[in-house]
Amino acid sequence: MKDEALQIGRYEIFVFNDGLFEAKAEYLHHLDGPEASASAVVRWGKTSTMLDVNCFALRSPDGDMLIDTGAGTAWGPGFGHARPAMEAKGFTPESITCVLLTHIHGDHAYGLLNDDGTAYFPNADILVPHADLAFFGDPALRETVSEARRGGFTVADKMQRAYGARIRSLSTGPIFEGIEAVPLPGHTPGQMGYRLQGSEDDLLILADALHIAELQLADPKLGLVFDLDPVQSAATRLATLEQAAQHGWIVGGGHLHGFGRIERAQTGFRMIGL
Ligand SMILES: [Zn+2]
Repeated sequence: MKDEALQIGRYEIFVFNDGLFEAKAEYLHHLDGPEASASAVVRWGKTSTMLDVNCFALRSPDGDMLIDTGAGTAWGPGFGHARPAMEAKGFTPESITCVLLTHIHGDHAYGLLNDDGTAYFPNADILVPHADLAFFGDPALRETVSEARRGGFTVADKMQRAYGARIRSLSTGPIFEGIEAVPLPGHTPGQMGYRLQGSEDDLLILADALHIAELQLADPKLGLVFDLDPVQSAATRLATLEQAAQHGWIVGGGHLHGFGRIERAQTGFRMIGL
C-alpha cells in the first residue's frame, strides 16, 4: 500500500518516512535482566537494524494536520525527507494548522523547527501531551535522568522558544471529531497515542510503544534504553498490543514500517502489513 493514503472516518492519512535510525543490539534492555537481553540478541542474530522514523499527515474537511514531524534538519543529512514528500502531497508548512506530538523526542519534534530555531509551521498550534510538557519543561529534572535520556529537555526548550503560546497542553480523551488521545506512558512520562475512529476500521498511532517490531512483538518485555521507565513501558506495550489485536485496529507507529494489524501469535504477537 506504499504511497497510498488510508481513509479513516473523515481523515485521509499519509505516513511519511523522514529518515532511518540505526537501532543497535546494545540498546536492547529486557525487563528480566541482562541475561535475557543477551539471549534476545543471540536469537535476533543481528547487531543492528534500520528503523523508519515516521510522521503522519492528516487531511480532513477542516484542513491539514500532522502527528509528529520527524527530525527535520536537526539530525543531519539522513533525515528531513518527510518535508519534500509532504509538499508533494500538498501539505505545506503554511497549510498545517495543528501538530499533535506523541512525545517530546527529537526524532518526533525537531521537524517543528527551522535551522535558525524559528517555527517551521507558521500557522500551526502544537498540541503536546501534558505530562511530557511538565517533565521535559522542568530544567530541575534534567539532572535526574542519565545523560543519554536528556535530549527531550533541549527539544522542549527549543520548541517553547519557537512557538511560545501556540504550544497547548494535551490531556487524554477526544481532541477533534474522530480523534482521541490515548495515554501510552513509559517511553516518556506523557507519551500519547492517537486513535482515529472510522466506521469500519480504527487506526491507532501507537507512537514509540513499539520500536523494533521484529523483536518486541514476540517479546513485549524487551525494551530499548530510550524508554525512560522500562517497567511502565513494557506494561504499556503489552496492553496496547492486546487491545489492538482484540479490536482489530490498524496500527502505525513512530518506527514501524507502514501500517498493519496486530494479531496474537504462538509467542506474543505479530503484525500483518496492509
Ligand atoms: Zn522515536
